[in-house]
Amino acid sequence: MSLFRPVSVPCPSCGASVEFNTVFSLNADRRPDLRVAVLNGSFQRQACPQCNTEFRLDPELTYLDVGRGQWIGVFPVAKLDQWKELEAQTQAMFNKAYGDKASAAAREIGAGLKPRLVFGWSALREKLVAVEQGLDDVILELTKAAMVRGLDEPPVDAGTELRLVAAEGDSLAVAWLVSANEEVKEMLRVPRSLYDEIAADTTGWSALHESLSAGPFVDVTRFLLPEGAAA
Ligand SMILES: [Zn+2]
Repeated sequence: MSLFRPVSVPCPSCGASVEFNTVFSLNADRRPDLRVAVLNGSFQRQACPQCNTEFRLDPELTYLDVGRGQWIGVFPVAKLDQWKELEAQTQAMFNKAYGDKASAAAREIGAGLKPRLVFGWSALREKLVAVEQGLDDVILELTKAAMVRGLDEPPVDAGTELRLVAAEGDSLAVAWLVSANEEVKEMLRVPRSLYDEIAADTTGWSALHESLSAGPFVDVTRFLLPEGAAA
């Protein structure tokens, strides 16, 4: 079931109160249209009735797609600094719903689900694109780590993120996006062979692979954040 709750949010442009039908539980098996809306960026985006400025509500929801094996806890980018705590909370939520604390029937469904934690719309969308393209998200993050390593001056700062946005033929389209508004700063094309090489190299990347898949927050960002530095 997909669960909605009406909320009023002030328009960032004129301050008028805008009514949103917020989703806090999205079931993509029953509402494939909502998955499509996440992919095309229209989900939870609407225009202010007063000044017509379009804006998007920050996500805070659980996303379920049994058919594609996805269970994702989604939080706003603003909560990224709490990732360690939210990772534990997300894992506990999953365990209760589909893991070792769930009923036998739910555990059976849970066996086919990968619990994940993401921050923001771009990160959620990336997980959907990766699954659609048959890409393992841990390997994808390692590929991003390899890309950043190879750049002279990666535009890494607190307000940007590196996200897979599409896969076309032999290349992966990976973009530096502004977290606040999803604006593309720079589009990079990476040969899919880089992903394949990393996937095939079981020894060279094993330490990083292990740290990346230690919890549901499968994202290179975890190494760039304060709590990640010590790990
Ligand atoms: Zn407005």
